[in-house]
Amino acid sequence: MLDSQLLKIAEDFGSPVYVYDAEKIEFQYHRLTNAFKNVKKLKLNYAVKALSNISILKLFKKLGSGIDTVSIQEVQLGLAAGFSPEQIIFTPNGVSLSEIEEAAKLGVKINIDNLSILEQFGTKHPNVPVCIRINPHVMAGGNANISVGHIDSKFGISIHQIPHILRIVENTKMHINGIHMHTGSDILDIEVFLYASEILFETAKQFKDLDFIDFGSGFKVPYKAGDIETNIEELGEKLTTRFNNFCKEYGKDLTLAFEPGKFLVSESGSFLTHVNAVKQTTSTVFAQVDSGFNHLIRPMLYGSHHDIVNISNPNGRERFYTVVGYICETDTFGNNRRINEINEGDVLCFRNAGAYCFSMASNYNSRFKPAEILWYNNEAHVIRERETMEDILKNQVQIDFSTKKKAAAAK
Ligand SMILES: *Cc1c(COP(=O)(O)O)cnc(C)c1O
Repeated sequence: MLDSQLLKIAEDFGSPVYVYDAEKIEFQYHRLTNAFKNVKKLKLNYAVKALSNISILKLFKKLGSGIDTVSIQEVQLGLAAGFSPEQIIFTPNGVSLSEIEEAAKLGVKINIDNLSILEQFGTKHPNVPVCIRINPHVMAGGNANISVGHIDSKFGISIHQIPHILRIVENTKMHINGIHMHTGSDILDIEVFLYASEILFETAKQFKDLDFIDFGSGFKVPYKAGDIETNIEELGEKLTTRFNNFCKEYGKDLTLAFEPGKFLVSESGSFLTHVNAVKQTTSTVFAQVDSGFNHLIRPMLYGSHHDIVNISNPNGRERFYTVVGYICETDTFGNNRRINEINEGDVLCFRNAGAYCFSMASNYNSRFKPAEILWYNNEAHVIRERETMEDILKNQVQIDFSTKKKAAAAK
């Protein structure tokens, strides 16, 4: 969609506001399915935690996607969006056995990444098929917090513990229907991914009755000009060949599954803010916008880069600005950026604001969470209203401090 259309949305709906372009989401979905078009059975399960608005989930349902969920609430959200239980896979980490049982009761696919839980679950529910999350100990990922496949990671069951998995399966007679890995966000090197896949194939051979192999996600998208991105087409070609050969060896057409979040929604999103003030100090010019890390925490949390564009003045001369928010502690969105001249009241657009942006927003400083808009069929659809004071106060319990202390009960 065009910047002029974004500007109109900021004028019509106010700011801060998130805008998602449905066409871009569809484009990415088709790009990925197309890269794996030579796989007989392909399943994409959109990772809900990246952007969990129910209308976004419904869009994925329309595209034929399943969903990947990490909490019982995401499972329930998926069901509310109309996904059938078979279209939902539950891939939690560190949740209680009872939460996994609750998900199993709802009929969704279960993915277990802990030996103790596997043994308990298999003992109690030997008839419920289970997928196993393997940790191949491959270092991928752009940032220590999102690299989840390395040796010290809390995710997955170590490949060195396969003998123990096999013993549990043998003892409980449980049915393993899938093998899974997710090595973390921001895969830079396809060879590393393929190497991890080999480990997964080796593991899969040890289980005789699989339905699917889930290769997780971690596809990198470009956040700025010149950024490396995962070459999906090349990965598709190479992994397809390898996967199809494996299926022949295995003697069954397995489903190849992925669970991308960022790849599908990141670039569809724009975050729009108004500039409250331009503030000149001795060393820099700050542009202060009507938002902060309460609404978009990635720059402060991960040091992530989001391009920032002045869509009110696209032809203005470029100057250097540090773009900050209105939170009462440091909340820098972008340091020393070259941006078209900013005047107070201008609309700044943050690019790549589809994944892990709204879904990580909070009410810090008692601010309202932003509205969300889906641009679909050349029209702006509100898919979440901006919060109000009622939302801030909801669930808060006010104590009446005017009542007198009760007399102590007599002994
Ligand atoms: C977060 C997560 C994903 C999605 O990762 P992206 O980098 O957003 O594609 C996929 N699978 C699991 C298990 C996850 O926790």
